[in-house]
This record gives sequence, C-alpha cells and structure tokens, in this order.
Amino acid sequence: MPDAYDTSVDREWRLLIGGEWVAPAGGTYEVIDPNTTELVGRAPEASVEQARAAAAAARDALVGWRRLSREQRCAHLGRLADVLAERSPDWVDLVQAETGATINVAETLQVGGPFVERFRYYSRPIDLDEAVPPMTAAATALGPAGLVGAMVHRQPVGVVACITPYNFPLTNVAGKIAPALAAGNTVVIKPAPQDPLGVLLLGEAVIEAGLPPGVVNIVTGSGPEAPAALVESRDVDMISFTGSTTVGVKIYETGARTMKRLLMELGGKGALVMTEDADVGRAVQAIASVWGFHSGQICTAPTRVICHRSLYDQTIEALSAVAGFLTVGDARSRDTLVGPVITEAHRDRVEAFVRSGLDDGARLVCGGERPDLPGYFVAPTLLADVTPDMHVTREEAFGPVVVIMAHDGDDHAVELANDSDYGLFSYVYAGDMKRAYEIGRRLESGNVALNSIQPHLEAPFGGFKMSGIGRDRGKWGIEAYTEIQAISWLS
Ligand code: NAD
Repeated sequence: MPDAYDTSVDREWRLLIGGEWVAPAGGTYEVIDPNTTELVGRAPEASVEQARAAAAAARDALVGWRRLSREQRCAHLGRLADVLAERSPDWVDLVQAETGATINVAETLQVGGPFVERFRYYSRPIDLDEAVPPMTAAATALGPAGLVGAMVHRQPVGVVACITPYNFPLTNVAGKIAPALAAGNTVVIKPAPQDPLGVLLLGEAVIEAGLPPGVVNIVTGSGPEAPAALVESRDVDMISFTGSTTVGVKIYETGARTMKRLLMELGGKGALVMTEDADVGRAVQAIASVWGFHSGQICTAPTRVICHRSLYDQTIEALSAVAGFLTVGDARSRDTLVGPVITEAHRDRVEAFVRSGLDDGARLVCGGERPDLPGYFVAPTLLADVTPDMHVTREEAFGPVVVIMAHDGDDHAVELANDSDYGLFSYVYAGDMKRAYEIGRRLESGNVALNSIQPHLEAPFGGFKMSGIGRDRGKWGIEAYTEIQAISWLS
C-alpha cells in the first residue's frame, strides 16, 4: 500500500477533474476548526469555468462507465470500499477538526460506520428491471391485434452533481455517489465550503481504487458560484442536493430551465409527540440527542416537542436536569458530549434564533448563554411555552436548541405536529405501540420513529412538503438515480 495520504495543515489541496489533480483558478480559502478556531488547511477555490470543466469531464466519462455491466461497476465500488476501510481511520483527526464533531461522533459517524458502509451496500448488484404482464391489443388504426409485452428498465440519468451540506461531509457524499455510480451515472461532487478536505481525501481513494478518470470529479469553493454553475450546466442531468430549503428552492428554480432531475434532501423541524402514557425517561433521552449529537446540527433531530399537558412540567424538569449533566467543551476530549457548531456566523445565527424566541414570549428553561470557550459553542438550550406561530417553532435552528409545547390529546398533538412547512422525520412516544403507530400514520412526515430515535438505514429516507423531493437509501436510493424506460413489443 502507498504511504498514508497527507493531511497536514500546509498541504496543497487541488481539485479532481477528469482524473487529474488540478490547481484551483481562484486560489484557496481557509478551513477553520470550530473547536479551536485554528487553521485546518487551505481549500481550493474552484472557478466557475472549473466547475463547468468538471461537468464536461463527467460527461466524457459517461459513455464508458455506463457501458460497463452492473457487476463491473459494483466491483469498482467494492474496491473503493476496501480502500476506504483501510485508509479512512487515518482521516479521523482531519475530519474531526474541520467538522468540529466530538471524537465519538467523528469516529463512529463521520469517518466510520455509514460512510464506508454505503459503498459496501451499493457494491451488491441490485436488479431493478421488471416485466409488465402482457396485454391483448385489439386491431386499431395504429396497428394490428396481438399480445403486447413490455419490460421496464432503469437507465442511468447521466451526469449527477452531488451538492452536500457541512454536517456529515463524507457520509452525505457517500450516500449520493455510491448509488449514483452503481446505477451507471458519473458524478461531480461539490462538498460544503466549511469542511471539504475529507472529501478531497475520498478523491484520492477513488484514484487508488482504480475508478476510470472522470467518473468522479470534485470541485470545492467558498461561495455559491461554482455549485450554481453546475445547476445551470447542460452537461449536468441531475442535481442530488442535501442542504437548506432556501438553497433547495433556488436549485429547483434554476434547474427548471434545463429540466434537471432532482433529489432534494432539505431542512426539517422534527416533531416528537408524547402521549400521556409515554415513558418520560426514554423520551427525554431521545430529545437530549438534539444537544448531545453533533450539537443539534442534524436535519432529523427531534427539536419540536409536543408533550401531553399532564407530563409537561415533569418533562421540562427532566430535560433541564439532563442539560445540566452534558459536558460542553473541547470536542477532542472523550468526556465531551456537546461540541461547537460549525462557524462563528452560525453560532451568531443560533443565538439570534434563541433571542427571537424570547422576544416572542417563549420561556428560557436552560441554556441561552454563550459558554466561555475559545470555539463556536452554544449551550444546550430549552425554550418552553412556545406557540405554533413563533419563528422558533416553525424554523430550524440547526443547533442545540429544543422547543416544547403542551397538547391536550392525540388529535391536538397531530394537528400541532402537522402545523409545519417541514415533514422530514418525526417521533412518537406512547405507552403502547399500536397507539404510537396510529399517531405515526397521521403525521405528515416522510419518516416516523416509534419510541426510538434509530432510523432504519435501508428504509426510504426523505421529506414531505418543504423537506424535499424523492427518496434516498435502500433500493429507493438507487432508483432515484435512474430514468424509467419501457420497451414493448407485439407478438
Ligand atoms: P446550505 O444549503 O447552506 O449548503 C448546502 C450546499 O449548497 C453547500 O455545498 C453550498 O455550497 C451549496 N450552495 C449554496 N448556494 C448554492 C446555490 N445557489 N446553488 C447551488 N448550491 C449552493 O446547507 P448547510 O448549511 O451546509 O447545511 C444545513 C442544512 O442542510 C440544514 O437546513 C439541514 O436541515 C439540511 N440538511 C438536510 C439533510 C436531509 O437529509 N434532509 C441532511 C443534512 C442537512
């Protein structure tokens, strides 16, 4: 095996275009560790022309890649998974530094676990073709009578631009490019500006695994110009986007001009409904994950608690007690549960979000103050007595902030839960599963978990309403990167 990849702070990072490492036309910008505010590295600033060149390189590589059999493409993904399993444990320090994740999160969810597993999963050929039952056709002006048969095939969409958010840079990219490549597409990756360096290491692994040049391209940059150029490019057939609803809407609008295929994984404001017989301890543990799991920078987090009035005070008290036990601080310490949020600007946004809640009349139960630490920290914050119309109830903070309100019965709880523009992931905590299931079925949410916060990683994932379009994961994940082609014949 060649030497370990260079992750040093003074490394010269480049863009991956058509199988070559290319110097960025726009120079570099600084990637900062949100935990220490120190420099992690200088990321390449791609120009608009380089974004277009990456799309053109992906288009050039498309014919050869889609001509391979499904098994051959999957074998490439299997080799990539092997290289990543070998290499990626060495990336933990870098990825931890650029994301600000606690060491536990970095090891198990940023670099380990789902990142490599996504490539492994999609390295198994999945057959999506199906036959349609034959039909008899009468003679018409169009043609003679007979038996018409049909096959439904899945064709790759073409060139897919994968535009991703900052919270889990590697896992988000893997969740897109593994199924896209397996389906026969080529890709241009545009990772989030805040933490793109681990994704550039993935590019090195792609080369080491021997994928053909141009099948995977990576452009990075600090502004919206390069990804916007991908959305406009006629060389790009599909945008697979994960990020905020605001940017998702822009992509939808601009993409319409070239009829882009879209997979949109957008924002969320997860409701967690507690019935009067819910297990408060379990529910509180789930809610506290908003604080203790990547500082609430999770689209699926249960940030909007809708609690039966009879349990309301008890739940608030229990949450306040848990918040007091969560260690906020140095993300590199194994004792730390709450690390920083990604940037100074984002910390300021989360603080303004909390202030807006207080201005609107919410009650601050805990948090709210800025921890006295060098990085961009926000204390675990709970806002009680919120109302459905408040900004803090309707919008995501994408930080360690929970809001809670009371309901007076299942119908009321469902009404409050559905009073949201979002519909990504919701939760029900109830004394019996039948009741939890019935409430879950009434929620306008692409995903619902019952008495648990664990998602099923092969169940379809995606949002209702402003939370997105399309579904990820499992066979749905690969279908998302295909066009449906029907072939019929008369016999
Ligand atoms: P963001 O929308 O600010 O940025 C996401 C990506 O879009 C970045 O790569 C950015 O460079 C790019 N971008 C910015 N402007 C663009 C433009 N005009 N055209 C094309 N691309 C553009 O999101 P973020 O702050 O990185 O991430 C947080 C958001 O992501 C939250 O809203 C969160 O809910 C959402 N998210 C959703 C999921 C999901 O699966 N539904 C998962 C993770 C995060």
